[in-house]
Amino acid sequence: MPRCSVCGEEFPEWQLIRCGDCGKAYCRKCAEEDPTILVLGVCPDCEEAHEAEEDYWDWG
Ligand SMILES: [Zn+2]
Ligand SMILES: [Zn+2]
Repeated sequence: MPRCSVCGEEFPEWQLIRCGDCGKAYCRKCAEEDPTILVLGVCPDCEEAHEAEEDYWDWG
């Protein structure tokens, strides 16, 4: 079974949320602790990279 890349526990694929960019896997619990993956569909690392490229937050 694939592992959550945060807590390292094994989960069935359908229970994991994957980063659309790098494919990093998050289990439900870890995704809820760091909801970037739930909200944006990418992990915080990739989100930072996106933020630098396209400033879609528009916070100035
Ligand atoms: Zn986890
Ligand atoms: Zn990622």
